[in-house]
Amino acid sequence: MDPGRPYVDLKGGGVMTGITHAAAGAAIGAAAGALGGAAAAGAAAGGLAALLPDLDHPGSYAGQRLRLLACWLEERFGHRESPTHTLFFAALAGLILGITAAIVLKAPLLALSGVLGGVSHIVLDGMTRSGVKPYRVYLPKLPGKLEKWRQAEKWNSFAARAAAHAWAGRQWRGDIHTGQDGREAAICAASLVLLLILFMQSYSN
Ligand SMILES: [Zn+2]
Repeated sequence: MDPGRPYVDLKGGGVMTGITHAAAGAAIGAAAGALGGAAAAGAAAGGLAALLPDLDHPGSYAGQRLRLLACWLEERFGHRESPTHTLFFAALAGLILGITAAIVLKAPLLALSGVLGGVSHIVLDGMTRSGVKPYRVYLPKLPGKLEKWRQAEKWNSFAARAAAHAWAGRQWRGDIHTGQDGREAAICAASLVLLLILFMQSYSN
């Protein structure tokens, strides 16, 4: 594991860049926030939440800020193989961030901005070549019979099958290579345009 290697691996593919994640999260977060008159705060909450799942990569925006945790996660699980790249983590981390913003700024819809921003990360990563395991669960050792059940990994093999069928269908799974695919640039650009439109709608009179 080399924590110093660049986050954006042009040849390796499979890594959505932080810019794309932030842009998409900000756009969807702004859309939710705008419903409650808080487009800018929604963009911030959604954009930040969308960066959190890459905490398992020390070179990412979030990983650089929480480097010890990021190195541990990558060492222990591997980038995208860790709990941060599941829907559960992304939605929950986004919810916590969003609720915090909602309380501080007294704008309840920011909670939704956070959740949607987090979930957008998993959806976008699911479109890339290495994909994600969105429904995987990570449990610590359990007592008694439960430990046997945990080791059997029944849920996770079911989750893998479910993901293969219902999540990342043949249409789009597996062929976006970061930095080599115009579709990622298109997603990024479309997000920024949407963000601009939402801001103009919200803040012009
Ligand atoms: Zn990711």
